[in-house]
Amino acid sequence: MKLLDGKEVSAKLKEDIKREAAELTAKLGRKPHLVAILVGNDGGSETYVASKMRNCEQVGFDSTNVHYDADISEEALLAKIAEINQDENIDGLIVQLPLPKHIDPEKVTEAIDYKKDVDGFHPINLGRMQRNLPCFIPATPYGIMLMLEHYGIDTAGKKAVVVGRSNIVGSPMSILLARNSQPGNCTVTLTHSRTKNLQEEVLQGDIIVAAIGKKNFVTADMVKEGAIVIDVGINRETSTETKSGFKLYGDVDFEAVAPKASWITPVPGGVGLMTIIGLLKNTLEAAKGTVYTK
Ligand code: NDP
Repeated sequence: MKLLDGKEVSAKLKEDIKREAAELTAKLGRKPHLVAILVGNDGGSETYVASKMRNCEQVGFDSTNVHYDADISEEALLAKIAEINQDENIDGLIVQLPLPKHIDPEKVTEAIDYKKDVDGFHPINLGRMQRNLPCFIPATPYGIMLMLEHYGIDTAGKKAVVVGRSNIVGSPMSILLARNSQPGNCTVTLTHSRTKNLQEEVLQGDIIVAAIGKKNFVTADMVKEGAIVIDVGINRETSTETKSGFKLYGDVDFEAVAPKASWITPVPGGVGLMTIIGLLKNTLEAAKGTVYTK
């Protein structure tokens, strides 16, 4: 078993991004700039946004966190998005999900200028991804593809089983793995809560991507010998063992599955770190104007 080590890959890619950001800053006369809007006080969301902001600073980007109370109206949020869309000194805009119930996430996603949509959730970016056109790719699947690329894993012709069909992870992951490019060229099965005989499906996978949101859901008896196992899950449980007061668990039972896998991502230290890289790369591309001209 070999580790798909998010720490190692993300550290290397962050150095590359930092170098490119410095070159771009000299050329533009300003740093690449990411704005994150956070609504409400969800503990997980606050941690994720803080980490995104910190990572931006580490690679030499400007970052702004716009934080609203949970009772902000949908109208006021959309007005702020429209204002940022017009601001030429802002390259990327993300709105942290989930949003409070009275705000329609679809409206918010579509309100973001697709040229600043560095989360890659806008239907234009998703459609362009499907057609293999330049676009912003959702950060988590993008990070996973960068990880496979880094380790030189030949995915062509392999059977990939993705568990979970969310718009932000499972569905885009299935599209990317099926695309005619490297990494890619897989034969993909996309599974979800209505899939029959899930164990049999997952057992077919040369590559398994678990994005379910249930601790240790993928067990050793679901994984074939030699499979490449990518664990997207981040399940937080309170713990007295850690300083932060919580512990993270993946969707894969790592201890039991790792001995069977040829490659596997740990949690933490795997996909989560690569998600940040996906976001930073998209923001850099947005500032450069290489995906879409400004
Ligand atoms: P969602 O809740 O949006 O989607 C979960 C998916 O899992 C759904 O498609 C659901 O099926 C499927 N599912 C649920 N239960 C079962 C089951 N018993 N059998 C088969 N499929 C099932 O989650 P996300 O995709 O947003 O996130 C998944 C996990 O990844 C979470 O732990 C999240 O925290 C983590 N995550 C990690 C990131 C990172 O950077 N590492 C980034 C984003 C998410 P159905 O559609 O039928 O309901």
